This record gives sequence, structure tokens and C-alpha cells, in this order.
Amino acid sequence: MKEGKLMFELMKKLFPINRSITGEGPRQSLKILREHIPSLEIKSVKSGEKCFDWEVPKEWHIEEAYIEETDTGKKVIDFKNHNLHVVGYSIPVDKVLTFEELDKHLFYREDLPDAIPYITSYYSPNWGFCLSYNQHKTLDKTKKYRAVIKSKHFDGELNYGEVKLKGKSDKEIFFSTYICHPSLANDNLSGPVLATYLIKYLQKKKSLNYSYRFIFIPETIGSICYLSKNLSELKEKVQAGYVLTCVGDEGKFSYLPSRNGNTLADKAALNLLNYEIKDFKKYSYLDRGSDERQYCYPGVDLPVCLVMKSKFLTFKEYHTSLDNLDFVTPKGLQESYEFYTKLIDVLENNKKYITNVLCEPQLGKRGLYHTISTGNISDKIKVLRNFLVYTDGSNDLIDIANILGKSAFELIEIKNILLKHKLIEEV
Ligand code: ZN
Repeated sequence: MKEGKLMFELMKKLFPINRSITGEGPRQSLKILREHIPSLEIKSVKSGEKCFDWEVPKEWHIEEAYIEETDTGKKVIDFKNHNLHVVGYSIPVDKVLTFEELDKHLFYREDLPDAIPYITSYYSPNWGFCLSYNQHKTLDKTKKYRAVIKSKHFDGELNYGEVKLKGKSDKEIFFSTYICHPSLANDNLSGPVLATYLIKYLQKKKSLNYSYRFIFIPETIGSICYLSKNLSELKEKVQAGYVLTCVGDEGKFSYLPSRNGNTLADKAALNLLNYEIKDFKKYSYLDRGSDERQYCYPGVDLPVCLVMKSKFLTFKEYHTSLDNLDFVTPKGLQESYEFYTKLIDVLENNKKYITNVLCEPQLGKRGLYHTISTGNISDKIKVLRNFLVYTDGSNDLIDIANILGKSAFELIEIKNILLKHKLIEEV
């Protein structure tokens, strides 16, 4: 079975869980991910712990939530039917209200009449229910309603997952994804399932040049918390990093640069986007929205950018019940998987190379006119010769690919042939 299909199956398992930034939802999700990646470590930080300018929030637990008509006892909204029906982090409530009073706590989208919006209130105590506009229209405005939310906020912990893979070098490639959205597919379950299958891809390789670090955190508070504990190590080790989110729909690829815009992460991603994907949308750092906000903050300055399918905030399904298992597809996931596995291969092979021969080497006596495996031979020989011309020790694989107007992934084969024939060596 193709990875896209397997990733989709894993997503189906994770989809029904009621995740939030803390609590049983993310813990249960991490345990399911650990069944696929036994080396995943589940870590915890206590409520109240300081992380830079923030504090780890209390844990949130919700048992049940509903709105019923007081005269008939009929439940008109029930959290049991959809995780998005309750505003995330709602405080407990049990009140009888007029429709007008209740309506102040109801959230819906007139522009998307069938969608239940996703709303949270992590840092100010509030309560509310979310429903479709069509459902809202059916509520009887003359009736009284009883709103019940049985929830608790208590000193507990924030959990996150971490996977480290050891390579020849201590220098790292970093992937960050989040696990805090309930029953939402592209934003956000596509990220953790892609991360899981990228880890499996790396584990199958005989050896790795770079070391790799993957983290599965709640968005914003999780990255701030992780940075507050690991900043100096990350600054020393991370050479390129990516936030994995919105990687499962069938829309065009999107690129959102790091704040610096010119890091190795950007350079590798852009080469593949330009020469493998070709048709993609390019955003500015001003369009940021996920954990790159923290990773690229002044003083943090990690080389982290994003390659997504449809970018968060730009698709109509975003943060509503329409971002579901119909919107994300095995095909969309497979396309992202193929992009990121190529990206990993490019980074693994991205060294500076220098020629071993002065003046053009004689390719014929090395049999090189016949060793190029596929495609149009004369074209490949041309690429090989052009590659050699730029092996002056100052260009890495991606630089040469950019000069030649080629995908760096495509040039790995040429580079390996030249290394094998000792025509070039690593600087
Ligand atoms: Zn989101």
C-alpha cells in the first residue's frame, strides 16, 4: 500500500479524538503515534511552569456538554455528536437562558451554512457552543434553554512527543508538527501523520548524514515551551527545519519562507518547488501563522520555513467541520510525502564538491558515455559536464542545481557517478 493511503488510515484513527492544548486528547493521540514509532518519547511539563513570557496552562477536561429546550428536554446541541460543538477550554456552566442570552454564546458562520466553526478560548475564561448556521436557524427564539458544560480546569501537565534519530553528524534537520486540534484534518492531523511516515522513511535508510529531531507539540504554547527548554541546543545544531501542517489536501503546493528567507531550509525547499513542483504559491513571512512565528522570532532565529499544500487561512474549509476526511485525501498526503522524502534526500546529499582533474576529464576512457542509466544519454552527459564545471569547491549540490536550472534531487545520481569515478570529492 502506498504511504498516502497508510497515512490516511492513521488519520482516521486519530480523527475522532477530542484534542486540545492539554489533556487526555493529546496524550491519547501521542500513544497512538507511539504504536507506529516506538522511539517516540512522551514528555510532560507541569501547569504553571514559566516559558519565556508564557505560563503552561491548567489541564482541561470535559465530560459532557449540551443545550436542551427547558420545556421538552430535547437536546438541540450535543458535544457527543461533534467535538467542534464546544468552544475549546470552556469553563463549566449550568444555566437556564433566554434565546437572546444564549445567542451571545453561540458561534456559527453565515457564509458557510453547513459548517461548524472551530473556536477556542485558551487564555480568557469563557464558554460557548459552535453550530452550523442551518442548525442555528432551526432554534426556536421564543423558548428557554438550559446550557450545560461539565468541564474542569486543574493543575496537570502539557504533553508533547519527541523523536530523535542519530546520524553521522550532530547537526540536525528539525521537523515540528502540532497535535492540539480536535477532529480537523488538513489543519492539523495531516502534519503528525506525515511526520510519522517521514520518520519511518528515515528509519529504513542504512545510514544518515544528519541527525533528525521531530517534535509533536500543542501549537504556540508547545513551541514556546520547547524553545524555552532547548533553545541553545537547537541554535547550535539545527541546520534546516520545517513546520508540518496543511499537507493533506489536493490543492497546489504553498511555500512560506523563514523570516530570514535565505536559510538552508528555504534554499532546499525552493529548489524542489521550482524544478520538481513548478506550479506553486509563494507567500511572505508576513503571512505566517503557525509555529514558525516562534522559531523565527528575533533572537530565536532558527532556519525554519513551511511547505504546505493549501496554506492555513486560505481554504474555505479551514477551522471548520468541513476540514474533514473528505477534504484530505490519500493522494494529497502522498504528494506531500514524495516532496518531503525528496527534500530529505537532497539535504542528505547536499555537500560542496571539488574536481579532482585539471581541465576537462576524458569521459570516454572511463566509460561514462554508457554508465548513465536512464533518459536521453546526450542530455545527461551535458548535465554531467555542466555539473563538473561548477565543482570548484564553493558550490554545494543545491547551488549547482540552481545554476543548471535543475532539481537537486535529479542531480544526486550524477553526483554519485562522478564520486564513484573519483572525478570529484567532497570538500
Ligand atoms: Zn489551526
